[in-house]
Amino acid sequence: MPTKFHGPKRTKNVAPLSRAELHIHFDGAVRLSTIWELCKQKGLPLPGRGTIEDLRWAVQMSEPSDLAGFLSGFRHTAPALTGDIVAMERVAWEFCEDIASNGILYVEARFCPHLLVNPAKEGEPTADDILEATLRGFSRGEAEFGICIRTILCCIRGLPAADADILRQCNKYRDQGVVGLDIAGDEAGCNNAALQEMFDENVINIYDEARRLNIKRTVHAGEVGPAKCVDQALNLLHAMRIGHGYRVLEDQTLYQKCLKDRVHFETCPTSSILTGAQPTDIFYHATVRFAEDGANFSINSDDPMVTGTWLEQEYELVRSWGLNETHIVRGNVNAVKSSFLPADEKKVILKKLYNVYHLDMD
Ligand SMILES: [Zn+2]
Repeated sequence: MPTKFHGPKRTKNVAPLSRAELHIHFDGAVRLSTIWELCKQKGLPLPGRGTIEDLRWAVQMSEPSDLAGFLSGFRHTAPALTGDIVAMERVAWEFCEDIASNGILYVEARFCPHLLVNPAKEGEPTADDILEATLRGFSRGEAEFGICIRTILCCIRGLPAADADILRQCNKYRDQGVVGLDIAGDEAGCNNAALQEMFDENVINIYDEARRLNIKRTVHAGEVGPAKCVDQALNLLHAMRIGHGYRVLEDQTLYQKCLKDRVHFETCPTSSILTGAQPTDIFYHATVRFAEDGANFSINSDDPMVTGTWLEQEYELVRSWGLNETHIVRGNVNAVKSSFLPADEKKVILKKLYNVYHLDMD
């Protein structure tokens, strides 16, 4: 029986703070109602007739496409936030409210501040201003909603000019909630069989430097790109976690090594279908394989603004594929154990989770 997919549905869930999420793009989790309001205020173009329904239609996906199609909605949403520190602080706070109302106790939110900066001009907010506004919103939300939020900064494939500055920000803001480095973007180009290097020299150097500075590292790999991306993310970039990683299953030797080394895979079920990373005619979704094989994996929502899903809907989807509550609880425990928190803070979050699950600390 092929993998089932009924398309996303978005309903807010009220649950005790009992979940952890490691792979969510902050700028892909903004309320469309806020984007619409900001566009109206600023006189920015809106798709279709300019209604909020048309904006939702342009940004949210319900049918599988490809990664470029998946990301195309951002062109309608990013301008509303670009260069606006007041808006950034607001959406950061709103993000915390949504996280809490979805029962998420611990979240690592990722984004690239450089994508939300206007071209350098006197008086315009810098990438640091954008990040600081976001961190202010996060820390207000954290205190107000009793959640724990940390930030990962993303380099973007094809945007190498910002990489060094993103690394600088990871270092500068490490005491203000920034816990790691990521590289995101379309890896479809890596499917050229003749291509040997999945990451360019610049990215390898940035990751080397991050490792030297003891900055934690995750890498989007093996989502739409081949297993070789996962291999090189681990061995060239020294990634400590893999974003998605589904196509690791195409290389059994590598997969067995990942199982043995407890490599953490941040799986994102709905987005993996919508981006075409996991076709719906396969028998087993990679998340199911990871769960059955006892891999170190977590379940994440990636971009709720595009998928229309939060964790509850992701859980519903994986349940429809046969995962049970034990797999889901294990995914949450895995997430905290593989989080980029320091050991003592990890222990505090784990203890809270175990209390909710009525489990003993191991
Ligand atoms: Zn992602």
